[in-house]
Amino acid sequence: MSDKKLYSLPELPYTYNALEPFISEAQLRLHHDKHHAAYVNGANAILERLEKARQTGTDVDMKATLKELSFQAGGHVLHSLFWQNLAPAAKAGKEPVGALADVLKNEFGSFERFKKEFSAAAASTEGSGWAALAWCGMTGRPLIMQIEKHNVNVYPMFRILMVLDVWEHAYYLDYKNERPKFVEAFWNIVNWDEVNKRLEAIIK
Ligand code: MN
Repeated sequence: MSDKKLYSLPELPYTYNALEPFISEAQLRLHHDKHHAAYVNGANAILERLEKARQTGTDVDMKATLKELSFQAGGHVLHSLFWQNLAPAAKAGKEPVGALADVLKNEFGSFERFKKEFSAAAASTEGSGWAALAWCGMTGRPLIMQIEKHNVNVYPMFRILMVLDVWEHAYYLDYKNERPKFVEAFWNIVNWDEVNKRLEAIIK
């Protein structure tokens, strides 16, 4: 195999039980150690398959391979963002801070309105997917994305500030089929400092 860099599973920035009672230890272990790991391994397997085909001069099904890579790599990137924009409830704080607080207020009118729109986006994502808060550099405005799977409806070049995973694998052990309850719980464990840092790094 080549010595080119591959993806790796990041460690969580907190312990597995740190997000309780909003996300249980069992749920978080499964989500991080199994599901996220599977996207890392899946993306790496495709990179290695492409590398091998280049070395041996064989053809690959480009359409199928690139579609799968988009899904697996998207899954890895979004999960990596997700763990970092969560924090134990005691540390999380209830409301946005810094420039983020102003940006959300300007765009949505109030934090409550933003929360309502984001929650609705998360709850109504068709099948498996994500809600994301993103930043549009062209307008200098934030925007809510509703990402299907890990890679559908993503806007090119928009910077993602915050994500919420609403795949069933994110909440099923804790909330069964009641996604809106998980979405509601999410607001207790948002790492607003981190989300604000992502924004400030872009607009500084
Ligand atoms: Mn997930």
